Amino acid sequence: MDTGFLKDLNSRQREAATATEGRIRVIAGAGTGKTKALTYRYAYLVNVLGIDPADILCLTFTNKAAAEMRQRIAAMVHSGDYNDFVCTIDGFCVKFLRQEIYRLGFPKSFGILDEEDAKAVAKQCMDQLGIKRTEKTVKHFLDGIAVDKALDDYIDTYMLPGRTLSDGMKKGNLACFAAAQLKNWALDFDDIENFTRYILDHFSDAREAWQQRLNYIMVDEAQDCNADNWDIIEKLAAGHGNLFVVGDPDQCIYEWRGARPSRFVEFASDKDIILDENYRSTPNILDVANSVIAHNTMRYPKDLFTRQAEGRAVIHFHGKTEQEEIGWVTDRIKELLAEGARPRDIAILYRSTYQSRAVEQALLKAQLKYTIWGGTRFFERKEIKDALGYLRLVNNPADDLAFNRVINEPSRKLGRAFLALLADIAGGGALYPALRDNLTVKGLDKPAAQEFVHLIEEAIAAKGEMRVSDLLDRLLDKSGLKRELREDQDEDRLENLDELIQSVRNYEKAYREDAFTLSDYLQDIALYTEPDLRKTDSAIKLMTIHQAKGLEFPYVFIIGLSEGIFPNMRTIREYKKHGEEEERRLMYVAMTRAERALFLTESEGFNVSTKMDKYPSRFLTEIRRNTFVTEGFIPDWLWKGTRNLMHVLDEETFTGGGATDRFAGERAVYQGDFQVGDAVVHEIFGEGVVVGTDREGTFQVRFSGGAVRHIRSSFLRLQDLPD
Ligand code: ATP
Ligand code: MG
Repeated sequence: MDTGFLKDLNSRQREAATATEGRIRVIAGAGTGKTKALTYRYAYLVNVLGIDPADILCLTFTNKAAAEMRQRIAAMVHSGDYNDFVCTIDGFCVKFLRQEIYRLGFPKSFGILDEEDAKAVAKQCMDQLGIKRTEKTVKHFLDGIAVDKALDDYIDTYMLPGRTLSDGMKKGNLACFAAAQLKNWALDFDDIENFTRYILDHFSDAREAWQQRLNYIMVDEAQDCNADNWDIIEKLAAGHGNLFVVGDPDQCIYEWRGARPSRFVEFASDKDIILDENYRSTPNILDVANSVIAHNTMRYPKDLFTRQAEGRAVIHFHGKTEQEEIGWVTDRIKELLAEGARPRDIAILYRSTYQSRAVEQALLKAQLKYTIWGGTRFFERKEIKDALGYLRLVNNPADDLAFNRVINEPSRKLGRAFLALLADIAGGGALYPALRDNLTVKGLDKPAAQEFVHLIEEAIAAKGEMRVSDLLDRLLDKSGLKRELREDQDEDRLENLDELIQSVRNYEKAYREDAFTLSDYLQDIALYTEPDLRKTDSAIKLMTIHQAKGLEFPYVFIIGLSEGIFPNMRTIREYKKHGEEEERRLMYVAMTRAERALFLTESEGFNVSTKMDKYPSRFLTEIRRNTFVTEGFIPDWLWKGTRNLMHVLDEETFTGGGATDRFAGERAVYQGDFQVGDAVVHEIFGEGVVVGTDREGTFQVRFSGGAVRHIRSSFLRLQDLPD
């Protein structure tokens, strides 16, 4: 028995790795070697106890984390790399269902609906059921389906082949959605776990076989498991009873998706192991992280220590403008590279995907290679390509690529026959001018085509007189691109479009508005829109904080630390104090990714996405003053803005009313709860009155047509509040 490899662990980690029987919980802060202990435990089970890897289930939170863990394990175990069950919980459920779903009459090769597929099915059902998009958004429709699927009997009633529905039930939303799914043998994300639970509950032979098989179950990041995850884990572990869970309640960042950290805290364990030595970060970084997380009230206090040398001070940089902020980041990166750091040692983290735009442009300009971890480059995102397609077509009506990109974006139902006829008429010439000049020809004479031409012609006429940013804003509105995203409540994409407009405004400011033309803009951004397909091992990594979970990097930049951006205003409005604490945990996760140096940056200016002026994030006020260095001058009135926003939030949270009088005259105001009788506006449904509330953060609003709808507060604004 070669147990030599265990010497890499400290004594408590060793205890965790070798305590193989029973219910064991490791509860510990960031960077204390939880994941390391779990990986070594796997190797101990296989190399020392001789357990077959096929009998060990090792669950992690993201596909990337699972891939990384598989690699680490493969390097440690003798018996080859056959560790199929190192995966996410959904990954496991899919493997389980491939073997077991025949019991429900589904084929082994069932399909999986991703988010886009689910939206397409929802739209199809809404058309079929005669539900107008102005009455209900696609997102609301899908939210309703998810609520229906939370009911225990939905599988029996709707999802089994050969089921019979009463005439009344056939008209329901779920009936329609489920029928479309059954036609294609496709499960959605909710079904994947629900079907697994259903089979475990209803087929004792399947349950017992899997319980017998899975000798050992291990779960990393257990604080982010939701109730259904726990249910599946506990059911599988009920056979052998060997369940090893690892987590840190301070790093729970998925409460908004139903994570239940209390289940981890209340886990009935036979043995608890607490780790408190951090091996990742310098004392300076740990101090800063500890001082921020200490502001959460809903937590179990714990402190970490490290034996590492002090290292560099954490730096907070304040820029007068976003350009200055990002310019500072690129300057620091160049310095680090000059000192010998490798690009892949550097990570830039942000709260929301749209924030990557400014950094990407700066890095490209500085010719620094980067990759977006778990995401798409800003200028390659679909909605950005669509928006630029419109601008390109207006700039050059003979641009066929641009024409083809936008003619059916959003859908105008101008199908293949229409486009073939147009190509025929164009006879090798440019498509758009051919359409414009032949709108009365039979087959091209569709109202949607006329509207499209009208839109483009209007924009062409206006382009010399309007600012590029206004032209873009108008095209996004009038083309219906934004409306479609609003109907889908696709906030990420809407934020990206707002960010695009913001970036054009930045150009205009830099150039003097009247001297900046549409073709200047398109020429300038050509550099950013050419996909850089060369794969490189060594590139600076950009990612959202959610994607950074569990990872570590020598140098970490956290950008955009402004109130409203981080903490995210929507989260706070919707989830109040809980939202604020979840955002703070997110900040803790971000800061504790850093090994050697941590840089925190923010800037002044207006943010199109939050529609607010920017003030430094409250998290910056929570760091003990003596543990970090600030560069850049922050006038008092800026800190005052931060404090005011924090007070407004507290008032809203604890009194449940829009108590903003104290701050009359302040420009930045959080819109929080509404009260019955408040006159409100919704972007799609128009004006209405709040008539009640039933769930936290959701209000019943009667709109002018008389319909009462349930709307989340972030989609409403008081009628008399300025934009
Ligand atoms: P997180 O909470 O962020 O997921 P974690 O607790 O899972 O962190 P790990 O990622 O396992 O922590 O470990 C953090 C770093 O510390 C890694 O680089 C790891 O190799 C190192 N480390 C862990 N334990 C030890 C140890 N006993 N001796 C030396 N280095 C260690
Ligand atoms: Mg970990």
